[in-house]
Amino acid sequence: MRIGKIFGIEISVNPSWVFIFALVAYSIAQPMGPLSAVSLNTSERVVLGVIASLLFFASVLFHELAHSLLARSRGVPVRGITLFIFGGVSSLEDEPTTPPSEAWISAIGPLASLVLGGLFALLTTLSSHAPALALMFGYLAFANIALAVFNILPAYPMDGGRVLHALVWRATNDRLRATRIAATIGGAIAIVLIVGGAAETLFTGSVGGLWTTFIGWFLLNAGTLERRQSEVQSTLRNRNAADLIASPELRARADETADRVLHAMREDRVRVLPVYVADRFIGFVSIDDMAKIPLDELSRTYVTAIMTREEETEHASPSDDANDVLRRMARSGLQALPVVDAQGNLIGLVTRDSIMRWLSSHWTKDGDRVATAVRTP
Ligand SMILES: [Zn+2]
Repeated sequence: MRIGKIFGIEISVNPSWVFIFALVAYSIAQPMGPLSAVSLNTSERVVLGVIASLLFFASVLFHELAHSLLARSRGVPVRGITLFIFGGVSSLEDEPTTPPSEAWISAIGPLASLVLGGLFALLTTLSSHAPALALMFGYLAFANIALAVFNILPAYPMDGGRVLHALVWRATNDRLRATRIAATIGGAIAIVLIVGGAAETLFTGSVGGLWTTFIGWFLLNAGTLERRQSEVQSTLRNRNAADLIASPELRARADETADRVLHAMREDRVRVLPVYVADRFIGFVSIDDMAKIPLDELSRTYVTAIMTREEETEHASPSDDANDVLRRMARSGLQALPVVDAQGNLIGLVTRDSIMRWLSSHWTKDGDRVATAVRTP
């Protein structure tokens, strides 16, 4: 859910954030919470709880904005910021190009949280005449410092893990190896969190342990995904669109019906085919397009009725950067990206299948893992 833009950066909130909002508001407003030391009625406590939640929300946003703004100033385009149950995430369109860039872009978030924590601590002292406010600011100071400390854990892909990645990258001059090392350490920390949290719940009966397990599990997944994406990016680096095109001899004719083309797709094990009238490329049709047609109508539907038309789609040129092509496809949700030469003739389609085939033929030992990453835009 989009909520607006700050400095041209799109801010979204995942529905899971509502849970955190409620949790923060409740933990402050509940009768036994930090406000129990002062005498307030229920509605006063609820108001302070909601204000604290909003300020906490602003704190997480501030942390992410620090990452995003520094990334942008260092030439890394920012897609947007999403706040969700475990905090926030800044989506960068590309990886930082140098180790110092990565280190600073990662470190600035926890630093921003520390500064904010200090600021709230100062507000706590300044509002000593209003104990309820002082308690709320004290809570926020604690929350921001906890946010900084938690994020600086060297658990890739958290901020500290990314700093570690940048250091290993600098030391080894090998980015892919740095990713593997950082991801392995991050995975080990995630497992410690999972096991430690489970043990805590088991032996003390505290629910907090479950939360730790949950965070560890999330980290483990996020780390694996990051690592796969990074491996794909490294493999595609310095390649271009022409390397990734599907076999150009596989095509559908405009006068064919959907059931026949579907049959051909199954035979050739592809999900997308370019559609031609004689030698002229007029669009492409995918399995997904077929799935929108009731089964009994496939034999009466021409592919031209369901295809993506040539004039409706984006194009790539043969020399376009391969990672750029992958990003454009993920962003536009297109099933295929036609690669055309300077005269406007189709050289071939880049599809997710063709990218996966290219990757697995250049990286046979890990074909499966690569495939998963390509499917996850
Ligand atoms: Zn961060």
